[in-house]
Amino acid sequence: MKAAVVHGKGDIRIEEYGTPAADEGEIVLRTKMCGICATDIKTLLGQGLPKDLPTILGHEVVGEIAETGKGVTDYAVGDRVAVYPIAVCGECYFCKRGRNSLCEHEFGLAHGIEGGFAEFVRLPKQIVNIGGVVKLADDLPFEKAVLAEPLSCVYASLKACNVEPESTVLILGAGPMGLMHVKMAKWAGARVISVDLLDSRLETAKTMGADFCLNPGSVNHIDEIRKITEGKGAEAVIASLGVPQVIEENLKLTRNGGTFNIFGGPAAGQMISVDPRWLHYCEINLTGTFACSVKQFRECVGLIGSGAIDVEGLISDRFELDRFLDAVEKAKNQSMIRGVVVFG
Ligand SMILES: [Zn+2]
Ligand SMILES: [Zn+2]
Repeated sequence: MKAAVVHGKGDIRIEEYGTPAADEGEIVLRTKMCGICATDIKTLLGQGLPKDLPTILGHEVVGEIAETGKGVTDYAVGDRVAVYPIAVCGECYFCKRGRNSLCEHEFGLAHGIEGGFAEFVRLPKQIVNIGGVVKLADDLPFEKAVLAEPLSCVYASLKACNVEPESTVLILGAGPMGLMHVKMAKWAGARVISVDLLDSRLETAKTMGADFCLNPGSVNHIDEIRKITEGKGAEAVIASLGVPQVIEENLKLTRNGGTFNIFGGPAAGQMISVDPRWLHYCEINLTGTFACSVKQFRECVGLIGSGAIDVEGLISDRFELDRFLDAVEKAKNQSMIRGVVVFG
């Protein structure tokens, strides 16, 4: 099969790679689309590059079942599916509490095993057994279903913030995940403030429903947000970016009793300082989320399928596998919303 194969830091090649086969309990998928996530780009550029190379990245996979291994009874060749990319045990302390992303035995697509930037991808039995292979309704196009994975991470983020109707949600960063937060917070009935340094992104945030769009490069967003919230701050502040300094500067925009969620993954080695007195007396919930549970993933496939969440407009760029390097460049320059690799 053809695949985008990572050989080292910044070294990715489109080449032939062994086509996977389905062992007992496994499924092999013919990839139809695979979303390009910031994580893929960070990994390719060396942050958390796996030890075992070469490998294939891509964890936002949808496709058609090409082969089922012995013992797989609930699926058939030709089924159209979306995939929860984390292989979890389902039995450890965390899995039992529905917190699959913290599974003690987890691995996953592009994270221990080959991912979806390839014509075929093998789904291990852990993903199959946990219900991570989700069949799609006939009228749900791959182009929408491919957003289920990133959207479910956003869903988990908003759940962690206990977002309620009419609460104010401040979203720092209007990259692809920030924009998905805007869409989902609006769906949850919240008032949404989007903050970003790029006006073009803020314009997109506006079209996706943001009530206020602020560029700290041109306004004092902290003063503005104080005005908008009558000096109280937002019930939920979500850092959909991984810049420690930005996190630190914006902590104070959290309303008393509210939640600040660190959603974007910061690079290693940088610290922030937090006033423990503020956490204590203002009863602030400072937390982090990075993925979701299989249950939340399945719920998100449903939300997209029913049209409750309109994912229209989130995919800005489509690439064939041969043009993967163009996709990497565009992602690095932050000049697209969501890019996807499309397979024939
Ligand atoms: Zn992702
Ligand atoms: Zn587990």
